[in-house]
Amino acid sequence: MRAVVVGGGLGGVAAAVALRKVGWDVVVLERAAEFGEVGAGIGMMPNAMRALDALGLADQVRRIGTPRVAGGVRDRRGRALVRVAAGEHVVAVHRADLHRVLRSALPERCLVTGVEVRSVEDLDADLVVGADGIRSRVREELFPGLPRPVYAGATAWRSVTTVPFARELEVGQTLGPGTEFGILPLGDDRVYWYAATLAPAGGAAADELGEVRRLVGHWHRPIADLLDATPPGTVLRHDLHELRTPPPSYVRGRVALLGDAAHAMTPYLGQGACTAIEDGVVLAAALARFGLPEGLAHYDRERRPRGVKVARRSRLAGRFGHRLRHPVAVAARNTLLRAMPTSAAVRGMSTLTAWRAPELSPDR
Ligand SMILES: Cc1cc2nc3c(=O)[nH]c(=O)nc-3n(C[C@H](O)[C@H](O)[C@H](O)COP(=O)(O)OP(=O)(O)OC[C@H]3O[C@@H](n4cnc5c(N)ncnc54)[C@H](O)[C@@H]3O)c2cc1C
Repeated sequence: MRAVVVGGGLGGVAAAVALRKVGWDVVVLERAAEFGEVGAGIGMMPNAMRALDALGLADQVRRIGTPRVAGGVRDRRGRALVRVAAGEHVVAVHRADLHRVLRSALPERCLVTGVEVRSVEDLDADLVVGADGIRSRVREELFPGLPRPVYAGATAWRSVTTVPFARELEVGQTLGPGTEFGILPLGDDRVYWYAATLAPAGGAAADELGEVRRLVGHWHRPIADLLDATPPGTVLRHDLHELRTPPPSYVRGRVALLGDAAHAMTPYLGQGACTAIEDGVVLAAALARFGLPEGLAHYDRERRPRGVKVARRSRLAGRFGHRLRHPVAVAARNTLLRAMPTSAAVRGMSTLTAWRAPELSPDR
């Protein structure tokens, strides 16, 4: 059986690894001239680590990821709102490194660059996987009337410090009015940071690092130090969009949608790529167990409710997080978080990250 995966982002490459594990012949078609990920770091939550484990890659990712450090949520003065003990809550890696680990599980002949797919009709395959991201052409071809992704009202900056940042850092999220800042240490002493703020779409500044400094440079330590350790040219800025109307199905005929093509969500829970990797594992397991076409129907039944739920929770997390701007609302949220036992504060998140991966074995 032969599958063509359209799009070689984290979702597409993970799906290719999963499909090969259950015996499919796979080719990934990527329109960019080279494989790889631009972007800074990315957090792999426990659910994604289980999916990577099913692919046989979790240990490699752990080795290059966040050391076991404590973490939590703070206000902008650095006062703890939620404390989380050191553990396996998130493994942050550089995106380029994660992509390399995924690619290393595939023979080179499976990976083809410089090919932009215009229509799934052109593809000769038993299965087509639309993993072509938030602006998915495959999704448009399958569901032409579906409303396009919308602006989520916020813009985000990301970068990774290039010099090792010696101090033992915690994983952290800092919530201020209308703005948040996140810190994720990587395994090699570099630090991935992000900032997000409410803003009209389409903004750009000559000095994006300066913009971030203006927003959060006066917040608690070590935020200013991290910004100082960041070369200005490495700061990426992206407006945040989401697919607010989910497709009526993740499957049509021999085509399955996956990752941002199926459920592009706001990044407030750090679950976009995590759930994209889950998708590939579930798709491959369903095909191994039920074959075509039942495996695809099973995939849709399993994944669509999950994609809708995680996207909705992510939107809600934003509303309760950096999107709160009024001082009274911010103070009330902070008081509530401070009063809450840690177990209650993390319980909401753990209902999403408790996801278990199916086993991948070529049993048909
Ligand atoms: C600021 C920010 C922070 C984030 N942080 C996190 C996080 O911490 N954790 C997390 O899990 N997620 C995070 N996300 C979300 C995550 O980045 C995405 O959900 C994930 O990268 C989607 O992967 P994908 O493979 O589905 O799509 P993409 O990464 O968009 O890949 C799609 C690929 O398809 C290719 N392509 C497109 N059209 C065609 C075509 N016609 N033919 C051939 N190739 C094509 C593109 O070139 C691209 O390589 C964040 C997102 C943002 C914006």
